[in-house]
Amino acid sequence: MLKQALTILKKFYGYDAFRPGQENIIVNLLQGKDTVAIMPTGAGKSICFQIPALILPGITLVVSPLISLMKDQVDALAQQGIPATYINSSLASSEVSRRLYDISENRYKLVYVAPERLSTDYFQSILNKITISMLAIDEAHCLSQWGHDFRPSYQQITPFIHSLKSRPIISAFTATATPEVKDDIIMLLGLDHPNVQVNGFDRPNLYFSVLRGEDKKKYIINYVKNHADQSGIIYAATRKEVDSIYELLSQKGLKAGHYHAGISDMERTRQQDDYLYDNIQVMVATNAFGMGIDKSNVRYVIHYNMPKNIEAYYQEAGRSGRDGEPGECILLFSPQDTMTQKFLIDVSTENEERKAHEFGKLQTMVDYCHTPDCLRKFIVQYFGETKAPDTCDNCSNCNDESELVDITVDAQKIFSCIYRMNERFGITMIADVLKGSQNKNVLKFHFDTISTYGILSERTVKDIKLIIQRLAATQYLTLTESEYPVVKLTQNAYAVMKGQSSVWQKISKERKANIDSSL
Ligand code: ADP
Repeated sequence: MLKQALTILKKFYGYDAFRPGQENIIVNLLQGKDTVAIMPTGAGKSICFQIPALILPGITLVVSPLISLMKDQVDALAQQGIPATYINSSLASSEVSRRLYDISENRYKLVYVAPERLSTDYFQSILNKITISMLAIDEAHCLSQWGHDFRPSYQQITPFIHSLKSRPIISAFTATATPEVKDDIIMLLGLDHPNVQVNGFDRPNLYFSVLRGEDKKKYIINYVKNHADQSGIIYAATRKEVDSIYELLSQKGLKAGHYHAGISDMERTRQQDDYLYDNIQVMVATNAFGMGIDKSNVRYVIHYNMPKNIEAYYQEAGRSGRDGEPGECILLFSPQDTMTQKFLIDVSTENEERKAHEFGKLQTMVDYCHTPDCLRKFIVQYFGETKAPDTCDNCSNCNDESELVDITVDAQKIFSCIYRMNERFGITMIADVLKGSQNKNVLKFHFDTISTYGILSERTVKDIKLIIQRLAATQYLTLTESEYPVVKLTQNAYAVMKGQSSVWQKISKERKANIDSSL
């Protein structure tokens, strides 16, 4: 069986060996075992269902949300001599009928479909006339409400499976799923102890860095200028921001493109092609850009704004260095980004439970921006890796040579202030009380009468907030999952208050100078 798979790998794709994980998936699928595969972008997921599709009898249905990419994928397969087609809303109904007829005549091995299509009676009746050996679900995280890109149309997949006369082998693929999302996918598809292939999430060739307090525009102009021979992506949160960065770079004579949902389809395709063929050096885009774009020589991905969660961040940042050569992933953080994302989450759904979950994920993203620990470890742990080393020597925190300072006394002051405020307030209010602010809310709750009022008056509010964020990022504090998170103490904080452990934080030279001068 493996031999046959290897022969096909060579014959149709021209490769000599499987990449990590591919063999396990292919062999299991050929043995009829349902499989869930979580592999980073670029790991080579497509081959994992295409090769079994060629070996298994009948056809394989591939469910994909990316209508715009189906044609490219099918064309590429056709060029390799693999009989494939797609059915989606971009086709005229006469063309759909023609393709369905060809499908019923077993003329294809792979059929790509948009999930919306699955529930139509006509489609189901055609499919029930032929053998569907396998259902491959691409971007399977779209099934889960806890994933970063839930799509209601994916809810049609499970009823569709039940509507088939005989149940096909089921394979689900995604680049980003937390352990929670993985379990949800298995539950929603009703898979019974499937083969689960999780490839290491680490991308050792990527350098991660978080920069706070930069003049973002200046930073970007300098960066793009200094990397003029390299291809990069700059992600921003809103269309408006994309346009303004694009204009700025263009004014400076830099070869930039822009991409967001407000630009016409034709123009977007043109921009995308220009980027793929290196006519454009840097693409400024919202998160609408990139899904499925196979450009291997992207050398840097800069996030002008913090994204809404780690999955989105890792997927976008992970578009750099797909060729295995070094890639740089830079996140320019500003507190305003948190407000923007909160707004976007707030308007994205009515479902309160989902909203709370999204706010929780946003907080983890904020923690990433504040953790003094290894950024790589933070990411891979998030995806369920338990044995990540403490340092990677290839992220801005591991390379940060600033001084490690004992901040136990400050931390104790902060914790006891939170305790005295009954763990019922957010970071801003706590920082105001510690600073000794006369702000209306502080006075309304009579916090000017508690013993920790003004206990950090020598610090700026900004600095106090930063320390609190870092204490949250290092598990001394937790924040509730809501639009206005409330800060709570953890057992770690209690241990510090009791004098049983100490707290250390790296403090950069500039920040130390600021603190010293404010003392
Ligand atoms: P993913 O869907 O996981 O992001 P793709 O399926 O698009 O990844 O594959 C990424 C690239 O890796 C493609 O260009 C593909 O041809 C190539 N690839 C896949 N498997 C192998 C392999 N075994 N050997 C060499 N290249 C491979």
